[in-house]
Amino acid sequence: MAPSDPRDTPAMRQYARFKKAHPDCLLLFRMGDFYEMFDDDAVAASKSIGLTLTQRTTGIPMAGVPYHQLETYARKLIAAGFRVAVCDQLEDPADAKARGGNAVIERGVTSVLTPGTLVDENLLDDDTPNILAAVCFPPDAPPAAAGNGRHHAGTPALTTGSAAIAIAELCTGQFFVVSVAPDQVADELARRHVTELLYPETSTGKPPPRLEAAITALGIATTPQPQWHFRPSESRQALLEQFSVSTLAGFGIGDDEPLVAPAGALVRYLRATQLPTGGGAVAHGSGLTDRSKAALSHLRPPRIVSLDDHLTIDAASLRALEVDRTIRTQHHAPGASGQRDGSLVGVFTTPAGRPLCRTAMGKRLIRDWLCRPLRDVGAINARQRAVALFTDDLRFAGELVALIEPIQDVARIAARVALRRCTPRDIVALGRSLASIAALRDHLSPAPALIQHAGTIAQLADALEPLAQAITGCCNDSPPAHLREGGLIRDGVDAALDEARSLKSDAAAWAVDYQARLQAEHNLPNLKVGFNKIFGYYIELPKAQAQRAPDAFSRRQTLTSAERYITPELKAYEDKVAHADTRALAREQAIFENLCDRAAALIPQIGAFGNTVAELDVLLAFAAKSFSRRWCCPQMVDRPVLAIKGGRHPVVEELMEQSFVPNDLNLGTDDSPAPLALITGPNMAGKSTFIRQTALITLLAHTGCFVPAAAATIGLCDRIFTRVGADDALFAGQSTFMVEMTETANILHHATPRSLVILDEIGRGTSTLDGLSLAWAIAETLAGTPPTPAPRTLFATHYHELTQLQERLESRVTNLHVAVREWQDQIIFLHRILPGRADKSYGIHVAKLAGLPARTVARAKQVLECLEVDHSALVDAQVQVVRKLPASRLTLANADQPGLFS
Ligand code: ADP
Repeated sequence: MAPSDPRDTPAMRQYARFKKAHPDCLLLFRMGDFYEMFDDDAVAASKSIGLTLTQRTTGIPMAGVPYHQLETYARKLIAAGFRVAVCDQLEDPADAKARGGNAVIERGVTSVLTPGTLVDENLLDDDTPNILAAVCFPPDAPPAAAGNGRHHAGTPALTTGSAAIAIAELCTGQFFVVSVAPDQVADELARRHVTELLYPETSTGKPPPRLEAAITALGIATTPQPQWHFRPSESRQALLEQFSVSTLAGFGIGDDEPLVAPAGALVRYLRATQLPTGGGAVAHGSGLTDRSKAALSHLRPPRIVSLDDHLTIDAASLRALEVDRTIRTQHHAPGASGQRDGSLVGVFTTPAGRPLCRTAMGKRLIRDWLCRPLRDVGAINARQRAVALFTDDLRFAGELVALIEPIQDVARIAARVALRRCTPRDIVALGRSLASIAALRDHLSPAPALIQHAGTIAQLADALEPLAQAITGCCNDSPPAHLREGGLIRDGVDAALDEARSLKSDAAAWAVDYQARLQAEHNLPNLKVGFNKIFGYYIELPKAQAQRAPDAFSRRQTLTSAERYITPELKAYEDKVAHADTRALAREQAIFENLCDRAAALIPQIGAFGNTVAELDVLLAFAAKSFSRRWCCPQMVDRPVLAIKGGRHPVVEELMEQSFVPNDLNLGTDDSPAPLALITGPNMAGKSTFIRQTALITLLAHTGCFVPAAAATIGLCDRIFTRVGADDALFAGQSTFMVEMTETANILHHATPRSLVILDEIGRGTSTLDGLSLAWAIAETLAGTPPTPAPRTLFATHYHELTQLQERLESRVTNLHVAVREWQDQIIFLHRILPGRADKSYGIHVAKLAGLPARTVARAKQVLECLEVDHSALVDAQVQVVRKLPASRLTLANADQPGLFS
């Protein structure tokens, strides 16, 4: 390279080295008060987030962000889909200067920010998880369709061998591994709200084809990793090293456990992105703590979880039931505002729209509980007891809310402590949050329904109280955002810090005193002692008296009317004061580091405290809603029954206030033993609302929350399936009918006698006869044949002919309809569900309500009258023939086997 090459400078050579090590990231390179980007990085970033593009020297494009706004810009860059490597100065620029010559400041990449590994408070939404996952498919799995239970035509629904998924949240330290059928990977990614997915790189560089659609629909960032990271021996080694163990057996993970592969790859990735390789402390002024101590010590050992522990809701059903966000906004980036309103999660807010959960940890947990309800009756009952305690004793609940409310996001703070990314505000927030532990222990101890929570808090108090006291004792109540200028540690905590501070504040008085001393000693009444930023301390004499300056005075500066001097004593004092600032800051840093060390040693305890608080917070939110809306405690039974009295839709009810009409449902009860209900009625009558509310009531019951009903007996479910209208925006390219049939196929393959199936208007997207035939066959398949148990099914349809199934499959099918009243050629929707079939479809009435021109409506009536005569006779005759067809031979597997009808 020619010496004049603008890239051949020490700093640019250093830049090139780091860029080469992080080719897939935008490299933010700290230079003075800016983080600079060069070349393609600069062009891409300026285009994407509107930074000004300049040139470092000719031919080197450059764009920069002020160092103190790193987080703001990093957030924007990550949201725009970039990965960001932050290259910091690891020494004081003055030290590099002191080395002389061309010495370049020592730098190092201190963190790599990726969508699924964020920990800084300003990069995260407090009520949204930030989940990283790694996935491995079994080598022989045939390609399945892209998640959400959807399959390409002709693709078998089940494959041999399981896929392995590792799921971790860096910002809280949670770490799970789960084994699922390959065609259910996308569902698990949706339930867990995965943000970034690691997978073994392929020759095409693309993610596994079976996940492509889900990745797009869920907005997941993908990161291929070398194949060898997923090799069993390599991944095992990564885990052994991370957790400093010689065997994984202690975590219940066997030697040839396939779950090790993604878990090890994930840990390797976290270490590579989080632990600085540059070593050393980050230079003063960066606002970061000593990152050389950064560790992943908050990452818990991987816990094997089983889908069987939870009521499984697939991605399509989560979306259709609008559990955590409404359909309209689901294709927006995760975390976008407004999504929660109108969803089931959004129900848990005050009338003013404030979340009922008071802590960030609770806000995240409520979402998790609603997306992954329980299946174990003991665990559900335990939650119900806590909710009942709160609804029965509002004063107790109110006092507990007051104790919990001030608790900050200690789960995420603990992660920042471990990774040495915590700020003074974090440590003060931690201290204050932990300070409530004694009061919490005392408040919980008398409540038997909270015995577990009380026990955990009591156990933790011994370890966490001293830490709380240390922090609150040392730190100011209003700490600075960064330690750059100090101000975290109180006066009176540390003698050296106090001395350094008083030196600074006493400097003015000392100068006055010194001036008086010199004036008297040398008989120079006009002598002044002063200070200026450039020259420091000086002794000033008017020009006329300059010749009387004693020998000890050495000249510092000449002004027009005065001479300025310095003395050895003044110089010594100046040095002392000048270093007082640095010394004070260093002392503060040391005390802060010491508090971080103490907190780092208690990370598991802080994590457990956070979990307990989050659970109490969610249980209190459940209770608040249950009380204010008069929800009832459902009785959970181990029989396939669904008996709901006065059920309401939790979301629609909120919008409608007084006028929501409650409805009953009985499936599998003594009086109404049929497992399948066919619901007929005109459009707009309330069929969809009724079947969805039944799914939501069942779901809520499995979370341990009370339910919007007067009374409910809910048989435990293994899965909830819904097929209720396609979200076409998400699955553009597939016909609505195709989506409908693939979702139905998924249900027929996977529903068990313990499942709840909700079907809305099956067979709509094709010709009437095709649609009716399919709907008929699907209903028959789900109803099954006695004595084989069948899933509980609600089947809303506009095909009246289907209601004849009841006559044929009397013990299996019950007919319900939504009542309407006809009045002067108008219909009035009563929204009341009654036994029996609807007598007509009222389509023309509804079209009239919708504003179809009167002439068109009149003509439609004429046509209908003609058709009805011919059609009904014909269909009746045909249906008689169909009824005589031998019943399809359908066998239901038992609930323990996943595939059923196939
Ligand atoms: P369908 O599925 O029969 O076409 P929907 O369930 O979509 O009807 O309901 C149509 C409208 O009726 C909705 O806007 C809803 O607000 C209202 N509705 C439904 N059920 C009830 C009810 N039980 N009480 C009051 N209003 C209801």
